[in-house]
Amino acid sequence: MTERLSLKIHGIVQGVGFRPFVHKLVHGYGFGGYIKNTSSGVEMELEGEREQLEKLLRELPERAPKLALIESLEARFSRELKGFTSFEIESSRREERNNTLVSPDICICDDCLRELRDEGDRRYRYPFINCTNCGPRFTIIKDLPYDRAKTSMAVFPMCPDCAEEYGDINDRRYHAQPDCCEKCGPQVFSLDGDGKKLPGDGIELARQALKNGEIVAVKGLGGMHLACRWDDEALVRELRRRKQRDEKPFALMCRDVNCARKLCHVSPEEEKMLTGYQRPIVLLKKKEPGLEYLSENAYLGIMLPYTPLHYLLMGEDIDMLVMTSANLSDTPIMYKNREALSDLRGIADSFLLHNREIQTRCDDSLCWELEGREYFIRRSRGYVPYPLTVRRELKSILACGAEQKASFCLSRGGYVFQSQHIGDLKNFETLESYRQQTEHFKKLFDIVPEAAACDMHPDYMSTAYAEDLAIPLVKVQHHHAHMCSCMADNYLEGEVIGLVWDGTGYGLDGRAWGGECLIGGYGGFRRFGHILPIAMPGGDRAVKETERLAFSLMEASGLDSSKIAGADIYKKMLSTGLNCPLSSGMGRLFDAAAAMLGIKTMCSYEGQGAVLLEAAAAEDEEAVYPYALESRPLVFDWREMIRAIARDMDEGAGNSVIAAKFMNTLIDMAAETVKAAGRETGLDRVCLSGGSFQNMYIMKRLPRRLSAEGFRVYHHCRVSCNDEGIALGQLMVADARLRG
Ligand code: ZN
Ligand code: ZN
Ligand code: FE
Repeated sequence: MTERLSLKIHGIVQGVGFRPFVHKLVHGYGFGGYIKNTSSGVEMELEGEREQLEKLLRELPERAPKLALIESLEARFSRELKGFTSFEIESSRREERNNTLVSPDICICDDCLRELRDEGDRRYRYPFINCTNCGPRFTIIKDLPYDRAKTSMAVFPMCPDCAEEYGDINDRRYHAQPDCCEKCGPQVFSLDGDGKKLPGDGIELARQALKNGEIVAVKGLGGMHLACRWDDEALVRELRRRKQRDEKPFALMCRDVNCARKLCHVSPEEEKMLTGYQRPIVLLKKKEPGLEYLSENAYLGIMLPYTPLHYLLMGEDIDMLVMTSANLSDTPIMYKNREALSDLRGIADSFLLHNREIQTRCDDSLCWELEGREYFIRRSRGYVPYPLTVRRELKSILACGAEQKASFCLSRGGYVFQSQHIGDLKNFETLESYRQQTEHFKKLFDIVPEAAACDMHPDYMSTAYAEDLAIPLVKVQHHHAHMCSCMADNYLEGEVIGLVWDGTGYGLDGRAWGGECLIGGYGGFRRFGHILPIAMPGGDRAVKETERLAFSLMEASGLDSSKIAGADIYKKMLSTGLNCPLSSGMGRLFDAAAAMLGIKTMCSYEGQGAVLLEAAAAEDEEAVYPYALESRPLVFDWREMIRAIARDMDEGAGNSVIAAKFMNTLIDMAAETVKAAGRETGLDRVCLSGGSFQNMYIMKRLPRRLSAEGFRVYHHCRVSCNDEGIALGQLMVADARLRG
């Protein structure tokens, strides 16, 4: 019997190829009806046999495009027919502009990969092959509505063959804006170190150069990479020297998962993440210690090829390559041919470039796998600008983020658009990029923020930027923002216990905080506990020269610190308090412990001491050091622990045991602190946030411990736990405050 099906779908179903998908699906059934966009999703009506309609209803969520997120589906059947004769996509231009989402850049799909390798296909070995299900998006879009004219593809008019595919609803390339081929699309080319074009097949030339041990700059989706052999230690060290990236780990690109397995353990969950369409760099545990010239810690960052160009570059015979973003020190990733050719002169021996412009730079994403999901260090390519849903209506707010790992958020309705990784705003180029990106996002998503949110830190460039906007401004305490970011990440409302551990953040009292236990929600918070502050002789210098912190801990604990070079000077600073600020940052405690153990006394990047301490730790050590937890306010007094560490060192206990016991102690302290907070408030939900939770030793143990104590534990899964994720929390707090 013929019936009419009315369907309302909520979620992220616009701008993700949903309507063409529905059109195709419905076409197969031959139903009449229509589909149109609404403010919260799509609405459709169909007429056909009841049984067939029900079948479609089952197929719809199963076969929906990769980027669609169906949050709810309301279906209603009726026998009153409207007599549709055909199926129509109803468009309403203005509405579309308001609601369109922009897809992230998606790795090449299996169909395109097959064609790329098929000698009989007209796109055989064509490095820009793509379709509706894959290819560049965010990085080539200039403006909306999303069509070819407003992308980097505008300068490549389609040939008749491509145009035909583009217009055919039954074709995989129906409305694929970047659709192109050898005849009509962009081209790759190789250049020598001086920027002179080399004759011949660009990709073959680059492959030979790589095999011969050259450093090759390769233009990717969101920026340039520097690539070279992974197995030539001298070469990789030379790349470090040229790039002035002395100690930070380099990522590898592996041809496939089996290649990754040669160096790292890959669990089924990690494999899924590696091969997912976002293609992040996944941090995988090394099979055995070593390869320090690639990564000095226990992990290797590995990604699989994600563009057709990468696949052609690796071919059948290159298993892995070092692939690190091309930037100098802390400047943003390079993305223009001209700047690459000038700024990478002397760094790259040759270049593999192409003539499709990158509109928006976007770094590779970086994460661990935790409980089957991404645990981000950097949420960028493949994810951005896919919005985060929050399940509440938000005011339009621009949250400006922090400083070193800058990122911002813009909200519209139930969506939060988080920017890609931007970098350290202390850098002029990065700040410029930050300004550009906020403007780009505002335009792209048609958002005019009515208010802004920022950190309380008076010296953050993002704070200065927010103050200049001349719209109502809400300043949010750093760790409060971290906690609320984790709440929003997990769709939490009400009040929680927040464990917020990071390097540093501006406290309500103007001091550096960072080993915090907070209680509260979006509306406000109080400081329930923190770690005993650590004196930092020389202020910020102690962040790099961490031996100063080791000195400070030992002094405070009544230990002999005279073996530390410079102890006399530090002692003077400590006794006069001159240039010796206090910090309760957990990162400082980690750095100090790493320095005390001689693991790292001079840090070249943020969190290095902690990373190496984690790498040193034994997996099977259960012991805990003694410590004191004073009450009201709850303060973790680490002095007894430091004395016990010194004793262990004297007795030759070894760094692996001491490092593990140190972290076990923090886990124990965290559990006791949370229990005390729970007793006092009756709360049983705990949010973990802050950069110190980029420690997998702790992340594999602390949640388990807290769960065993009867708490519900939440960690980040959609945004980073470090300062990159802070804008989301700022936004939620600002929204709550603006509503009174
Ligand atoms: Zn494809
Ligand atoms: Zn073509
Ligand atoms: Fe922080």
